Formats: sequence, structure tokens, C-alpha cells
Amino acid sequence: MLIKFFIISGLFLSTHAISQIYNVDPSLLTDLKTLSSPKMQGRKTGSHGSKLAADYITVEFRKLKLQPLTKNYQQTFKYKSGFFSIKQGNNIISSLPAKNPNAPYIVFTAHYDHLGHSGSKIYYGADDNASGVAAMLNIAKRLKQKELNYHYIFIATDAEEAGLYGSKEFLSSNLVNTKDIVLNINLDMLAVAPKSRSLYAFSSKKMKPYKALIEVQSIDGHAKTHFISSNRQMNAKQKKEKIDWRNASDHASFRKYKIPYIYYGVGTHKNYHTSNDTFENIDTVFYQAVVNNIYQTVMSLDNYRL
Ligand SMILES: [Zn+2]
Repeated sequence: MLIKFFIISGLFLSTHAISQIYNVDPSLLTDLKTLSSPKMQGRKTGSHGSKLAADYITVEFRKLKLQPLTKNYQQTFKYKSGFFSIKQGNNIISSLPAKNPNAPYIVFTAHYDHLGHSGSKIYYGADDNASGVAAMLNIAKRLKQKELNYHYIFIATDAEEAGLYGSKEFLSSNLVNTKDIVLNINLDMLAVAPKSRSLYAFSSKKMKPYKALIEVQSIDGHAKTHFISSNRQMNAKQKKEKIDWRNASDHASFRKYKIPYIYYGVGTHKNYHTSNDTFENIDTVFYQAVVNNIYQTVMSLDNYRL
């Protein structure tokens, strides 16, 4: 009877209850939920919703006592949209120093902009890419507790959807010397679980020696990271049309400077760039497992001379 009772009650465990058992950090979910809330209106660059998102990230950076590299953690920039129109974007940037002041940099990127709304239809962008920004905040919080061999920079980039303008701006602005950047870790779409529960670490060939450190499997099998370094191989994992993954997100800007990168993402899915990309459609347990996997890899890489 008791056994039967357990089986039955197990069937009715809500996602919330499972989250508690798996120890999902509530602040990870709060950050994702807030950034993808109706109030933020899909965070289109230049919009009021985007401003709210930028303010939220700024407050979180401040709470974590991360260091600013610019006034108020902001890096505003102009970019050309179409032939005639000039738009303004705003990266939110913080840093965490290494114990050695001459250490090189590892730069995290996660774009916070998304598609905005058309009429009353909101593109919430929970997976794309509130998930990457919330993961970056979570990882920053954990790295803060450690002695680090690299300087870490955390950039919530803007105007990614319009053409990777935020990451391009960071690199051309010489806020840090690009020669001192040894790795870009780009987080873009981490929270919708594919059937295989795979997370892809699409990486530059230079990261091949670290394949074993990157291929982390969470103890409980909730998420497995796959190292991929060829575009053909990445496309073979996707059933959709062919995509040039090397240029699909902010890591492309680093690639142009010949800076090695790891781009973490689940690939495209049915909610991608639709109004169904909502908080309700993310898998919280998979998401936490993915964030843990990435954090574990970063902690391992921190011990190597990249
Ligand atoms: Zn994206």
C-alpha cells in the first residue's frame, strides 16, 4: 500500500516540487521569469521594455558587487539599421577580478534583447535569451565565491537579434585589449529541453584539447553537454534548415578577432522566435542542470593556461 501510494503521489509531483528536490536556485528562475515577463514586452532594442531589462540586470550586477568597467555598467552605442536609420543600443557590462592583476580575460556574453511585440502579440523570449542572461548572473554569483586565475567579464549584450551589434561594439571599443581575451563563453538558449536532454557546446577548433572538460553529464542524467566543433556536425543534430552556427550568435564577433569561443545552446526548437517562447515552456530542472554543467566546465578551465 505504501509503495503504491508513493508511486501515485510521484505521478502528481508538480514541476515546482521536482525543482525543490533537484535544488533549483530560486533566483535563477526569478531572473528568467522577470526578464521574460509581459512588462518587458519582448525587450526589443531601444524600447521601454528593453530599458526595464537593462535596469534589472544593472541592479543584479550591483547586488552581486561585480565591478563596473564603465559608468553605471552601461555601454551605449549607435548602429546602422537599414540604409537610413541610426539606432541606439546599450550593453550592460561587469567584471570579476583574478587574484593576479595581469591575468588574461574570459568574457561571458548573453544577449538580453529580443524581438519585442507586434500589436498585442508579445515575443517573450524566455529561452531566447532570458535563459542565457539569468544563467550568466547565476554563474557570476558562484564564481564570486572563488579565487580565480582569470579576469571574468560578463556582458548582457544588446542588439544581437538585429545583427550582433552589442558584441561588435564591445570588441571594437577597446574597453579591454582584445589580445588579452583568451575565451568567449556565449550563452544563448539554454532552457528548453530537447528529447535527448542535450546541450550543445559549439566551439572553435582551438577548444578541442578541452573536449573532455566540456562534455559534462549531470549526475542524475538531467542534461548532457556535447562538444561540437564543426558546422556540419551541428546541423546533423538539427532537423531544421541549414544554419551557419559559426555566425548564429554573439560568439561570431569574437571569432572575427580569432578569439576562441564556446557557444552553449540547445539549438532551434518549435517555440523559437514565436510568442510561445514563455517561462511556462522552459524545463526548470534541465535548465538548472545545464547551468551546473557550464559552471563545472568553467571551474575546470580556470585551472588551465588557455
Ligand atoms: Zn538568441
